[in-house]
Formats: sequence, C-alpha cells, structure tokens
Amino acid sequence: MENQEHVKCLIIGSGPAGYTAAIYAARADMKPVMVAGLQPGGQLTITTEVENYPGYPKGIQGPEMMEDFRKQAERFGTDIRWSYVSSVDFSKAPFKVVVEEKTTILADTVVIATGASAKWLGLPSEQRLNGFGVSACAVCDGYFFRGQDVAIVGGGDTAAEEATYLAKLCRKVYMLIRKGELRASKAMQHRVFNTANIEVMFNTDTKEVMGGKAVEGVKVYNTKTKEEKTLTVTGFFVAIGHQPNTDIFKTWLDMDEQGYIKTVPGSSNTKVPGVFACGDAQDKIYRQAVTAAGSGCMAAIDAERYLSAQGLH
Ligand code: NDP
Repeated sequence: MENQEHVKCLIIGSGPAGYTAAIYAARADMKPVMVAGLQPGGQLTITTEVENYPGYPKGIQGPEMMEDFRKQAERFGTDIRWSYVSSVDFSKAPFKVVVEEKTTILADTVVIATGASAKWLGLPSEQRLNGFGVSACAVCDGYFFRGQDVAIVGGGDTAAEEATYLAKLCRKVYMLIRKGELRASKAMQHRVFNTANIEVMFNTDTKEVMGGKAVEGVKVYNTKTKEEKTLTVTGFFVAIGHQPNTDIFKTWLDMDEQGYIKTVPGSSNTKVPGVFACGDAQDKIYRQAVTAAGSGCMAAIDAERYLSAQGLH
C-alpha cells in the first residue's frame, strides 16, 4: 500500500490518557505518533471548570487543560496527526492502523486511548445548556451546585452513586427514573432510599430543561398519571450510561458486553501482546481525568517494556 510508514508506538486518542502515554513514550525515545481523533482533547473539551485535577490549585478550564497536555506531549517530540483511525488489523505485528480509510501506519505497539462518550437524552434544551448547569459528571461538576437543588436522570449504578454524591453537597436531589424501578444494585438502591434529601421520582420522563443562560428548572412528565410539573433546579445531571469508543477494535480484542476493552488487572495489556488500552476505553468505574492519565502512563511503560523485550527498542 502507498503512504505506509512504520512507527514504534502509535497512540490512538488525545484525552488525558493518550497525552500522558505520549509524554512518557516520547521521553522514553519511542518517537510516538498520535492520531488525535474526531474530538481532539476528548471529553474534557466539553466541560468547563476542572477543579479536581492535582496541580491546578486555582482550577482550570477543561479545554485549556487539554492544551497544556498537548503542549507537554509536543515538547518531547510527539508527532500529532489531526485525523482519525478508521480501522485496525491486529492479526500480527507490526499492527496495521488505517487513518481516514486511506493511509496505513505500521506500528510495533499500539496504545488505545479512545475514551468514551456520555449518552445524552437528546433534547435540544439539554444540548443548549450543556456546561451551563447541564452536566454528565457529578464528581466533576457537583461542587458548583452546593447548597442548591439539582436533578439527575438515570437509575443505574452510576446515577445512584452520583445522586448520593450530590446529596452530600446539595440541598435536594431529584432522581428521575423512567421506569417503575431502579436498575442499580440492591446495595446502591439501599443507599439512595436511605438518603433523606434524595427524592426518587419513578415513571418520570424529562420533557425540557428550562433556563435562558443557565439551568433554572426542568419540566418532567409522569408516564402513568400523565401529570406534568416543573422542578426548580439549577443543576441537571445526566447519568444514563457511557459508550466506550471501541467499535473499530471489536474483532481483535476482548471486551465486556458494553464494549469496554478488557485489560489484565494491574496492567494495560490487552489480549494482543503489543496492544495496550488505557483511559475510559477500558474503565467504566472511575472515569476521571487523573485516573485516565495514570493509566496512560501505565500503557506507555508497558509498551516500552514490550519493545525492549522484543529487542525493538
Ligand atoms: P446503566 O446502563 O447500568 O444504567 C443506565 C440507566 O439510565 C438505567 O436506569 C436506564 O433506564 C437509564 N436510561 C437509559 N437511557 C435513558 C433515557 N433515554 N432516559 C432516561 N433514562 C435512561 O449505566 P451505568 O452508567 O449506571 O452503569 C454502567 C455499568 O457500570 C453497569 O454495569 C454498572 O453496574 C457499572 N458501574 C458500577 C459501579 C460500581 O460498581 N461502583 C459504579 C458505576 C457503574 P432503564 O433501567 O429503564 O433502562
């Protein structure tokens, strides 16, 4: 094939995991090439203030933080391609990674850091107020709503965990469940029902998030009684699941039923030697920038050791 190049380390994705892997790989002289993906910088580029990433005592805007990550990765020579990977072939090393359906890169190691995307309800008002009271991450944004009333949609473990997290900060938390029951584990349900300032509203759909420049309320609808009402809240959290961005790897790697890549515990190793996974593409539990960055570091170290063991570095 034309345009074929051969690299030691190819990093797919440019969130905290990808950039951290790049910093480590570049400093280990692995001359990493990064394919940044369709949303360069990842999920942090759609958040506002980040206050829980160590090293930023005054907080920082998500997009600005990812610019800092990028500069640090480039400072050590990471070659960033503002493009996306369309397919891969991990049947043998060097691995084939196809960029934009036309250029093939051969890679001795691949670090997958493609992240996950939050699922949204799909309401225009939810999109319009995203970042202005609408959030998909209570741990990231809950602090901004302390002492206030908020609503959270979803009845899984994430929503239950986030609702109890918010209940510690907020005056009142409305938990909006579309069915007549929670999907969350019994232990998490128990915590929800035993938290005095969480009001669980079953059979409840969201019709509209209200507010001009910021969230002022949410219009909800009871699917059984057909009753509609407006809850006065300043925060609207969506916790209806995430989708890992791992479709292109399905043929080659082991994944759980939701598509999270399985790694060997305590490492970033996938079932294919030389292919490593980090960040939200393989983590459905923690999903924080700092944990993603930590796992990106692991992936680069694992890749470096693999290359050394193969006599390639
Ligand atoms: P889940 O898919 O488990 O739950 C999603 C929830 O959102 C469900 O209650 C679902 O309702 C609801 N939902 C989906 N779409 C809509 C919609 N359009 N409108 C309203 N509600 C909607 O996702 P989670 O993120 O909660 O969990 C993902 C996985 O991670 C699970 O396996 C979970 O157990 C695990 N997890 C484990 C944790 C832990 O062990 N500490 C913490 C967090 C997650 P319905 O039930 O009606 O489909």
